[in-house]
Formats: sequence, C-alpha cells, structure tokens
Amino acid sequence: MVRVQGVEEQPTGSDNGVKPYLSIDPADFHKAPRIDLEDPIIYRGEIFCRHPDCSSKKVNRYTQKSIVRKHYRKEHSIEYRPFSKILNASEEQPHVDGLRWIAICVQRGQEQAGAAPVPRKW
Ligand SMILES: [Zn+2]
Repeated sequence: MVRVQGVEEQPTGSDNGVKPYLSIDPADFHKAPRIDLEDPIIYRGEIFCRHPDCSSKKVNRYTQKSIVRKHYRKEHSIEYRPFSKILNASEEQPHVDGLRWIAICVQRGQEQAGAAPVPRKW
C-alpha cells in the first residue's frame, strides 16, 4: 500500500512554494508580524523593520543588517541585543527558522506559520 506523504513529513528545506525571506516582495512586507516592544525578537539576517509604528507607512527595506540596527535605534529607540560573531549550527537554526517563519507569515498568513521561533543566543 502506498502511503501518502503528509506535509509534516516533507523534507525540511523544501520550500513548499514559500519564497525565501530575501525574496519577499517589499510591497508584501506589511503582512509580516510586528515585533513585541516589551521583548523584541529580531532574527539575524532581518533586513526589514518590523516595528508596529512602521507598518502603516511605506515599507522600508534595508540592504545591510547594520542599517536595520541603526534604524531601530534612531527611529524607534530600540536597542536590541548585539549579535554574536559566531553561532554553532543549533544556535543559528532558530534564526534561520525565524526568517522562514516571517516568510510564511507574509505569504500564507500567521495562522499557518505557528509560533515564532525563539533563539537562545543572538
Ligand atoms: Zn522602522
């Protein structure tokens, strides 16, 4: 008997038609979940601002991570924790998952994306 492969059994790394974070159309980025101002989680590699006050205005896209950090500091007075120079693979994974989570939220809706990954190390 042939078993039908369920969605959860598909190999990780399969994009299931979801475009990667860096391919998100800036025009769609207003659908990305906003950061929690009490406890902002900003993943390594993010290039868009997700502050709530930025959502209704034009979407800002930055090309360098250091510019995103400056933007949060300057425009929103948010100083998020500095990123480590090096993470091991298991520390890096929640950041990779986080970018993918944002990509799914934008393209499929937040209810499809599940809970936000929480990194243990930045
Ligand atoms: Zn902003």
